[in-house]
Amino acid sequence: MTDVTAAIAAAAYVVAAILFILALAGLSKHETARAGVVYGMAGMAIAILATLALVIEGSTWAGIVILIVALIVGGTIGLIRAAKVQMTGMPQFIALMHSFVGLAAVLIGWNGYLESAPIASDLVGVHRAEIFIGVFIGAVTFTGSIVAFLKLSARMKSAPLVLPGRNALNIAALVLFVAVTVWFVITPALWLLIVVTVIALLLGWHLVASIGGGDMPVVISMLNSYSGWAAAASGFLLDNDLLIITGALVGSSGAYLSYIMCKAMNRSFLSVIFGGYGIAAPSKGAAEETGEYHETTVVETAQLLANATSVIITPGFGMAVAQAQYPVAELARSLRSRGIEVRFGIHPVAGRLPGHMNVLLAEARVPYDIVLELDEINEDFPGTSVVLVIGANDTVNPAATEEPNSPIAGMPVLEVWKADDVVVFKRSMASGYAGVPNPLFYRDNAHMLFGDAKVRVEEIIRVLAETGARVTG
Ligand code: NDP
Repeated sequence: MTDVTAAIAAAAYVVAAILFILALAGLSKHETARAGVVYGMAGMAIAILATLALVIEGSTWAGIVILIVALIVGGTIGLIRAAKVQMTGMPQFIALMHSFVGLAAVLIGWNGYLESAPIASDLVGVHRAEIFIGVFIGAVTFTGSIVAFLKLSARMKSAPLVLPGRNALNIAALVLFVAVTVWFVITPALWLLIVVTVIALLLGWHLVASIGGGDMPVVISMLNSYSGWAAAASGFLLDNDLLIITGALVGSSGAYLSYIMCKAMNRSFLSVIFGGYGIAAPSKGAAEETGEYHETTVVETAQLLANATSVIITPGFGMAVAQAQYPVAELARSLRSRGIEVRFGIHPVAGRLPGHMNVLLAEARVPYDIVLELDEINEDFPGTSVVLVIGANDTVNPAATEEPNSPIAGMPVLEVWKADDVVVFKRSMASGYAGVPNPLFYRDNAHMLFGDAKVRVEEIIRVLAETGARVTG
């Protein structure tokens, strides 16, 4: 490698690192999110070109051909999958991406052991420890992300796996990892590498399988963080500064996001990292909710709305499934034009991605100033005439505040039942993502409006337009 190429690549890495920092800053606000994505893409393009320049100089023709074929095949698959993925499929897609980062870290670690590159004698121990740490974080990220993918795409039950002595199993795996790492640093052997890989693969699987559906948002951001640390560990092994910086940025921002989400959901950060440590197994007593529910119609709902003075709309995952954000935004405009106060209440984990509902509402041009977070709106439900629950379930479930043994106990929820009337838009009496029955549906002031949320909201808009001015009940 010539000094000139190395100097240009080093400068390009600094520019890419700055662009990644700008990307994170941009992504922290709605208004600048698009610019943030552009910074991130530009940074990644520069990073790939600089790395290519560095690698190509020292490679054989065969090596260069393999590299270019890998780039084209990987890039094409990524482009096609990303173009096809629906917004509602993003969480499982992201989980799958995290698993690739984990797998790459494992392979880089194994390569670090198997290749015969010369290492300075005083750094041999550090190199061996780097291999083990990289393989360990990578393997935990790999299987943890695969389980997250399976749970998020409903290929695996979202309920937590509760093995006897699960906390002891996790602690034993960590202790074994430390012991085997020390052993490997002193006397490296292939079988030790195999042992650590297997332990980490099992631990990653167990950590995520032990976490209930309601806590999955935190798990996704934790895995995002782990994938960053796995990339940073690979950066040490490959002696690549940009990979270390980028991995550390992803690792620390993912950890901070997880911390914020844990606070918002009243969960212990450590408990989620350690696979639900300290959380009691869900009680079997939480049987399927029974009782009488009141079914309502489009016309009755339109009448309730026409007579309301204030309306709060609480959207959830079902709004995303139904793609109901456009008619919901139109309904809000129509009600506001009648002089009715309309606001949106957004739960921090509504939908399947942090900020999922905010993105959909912004797409449908709902003004930001009427979109309020849970803690800004929760005290306003008493005294509100009507709440429209559009495809939300876990995020409006009173069991979280009223049933101490519920798997979602302690999670703050939108207290919609405190309004005068609540209309729940959904297709059946099924539970939400966490699989917990919802007593809201059986409250006296709750009205179930069954059917696809988009179709029902469009019908309400039509009825309101036909009735014209305010309907008096
Ligand atoms: P839920 O997943 O609890 O419930 C969604 C509801 O939408 C279901 O009850 C479903 O009922 C209804 N629904 C589905 N399709 C339609 C449709 N076409 N029309 C009308 N209704 C429909 O949603 P919430 O947003 O309240 O809660 C999110 C859950 O996801 C939480 O448990 C959260 O922890 C978890 N999660 C969140 C993530 C995040 O980052 N935000 C990531 C991973 C998990 P029915 O089938 O009867 O229609």
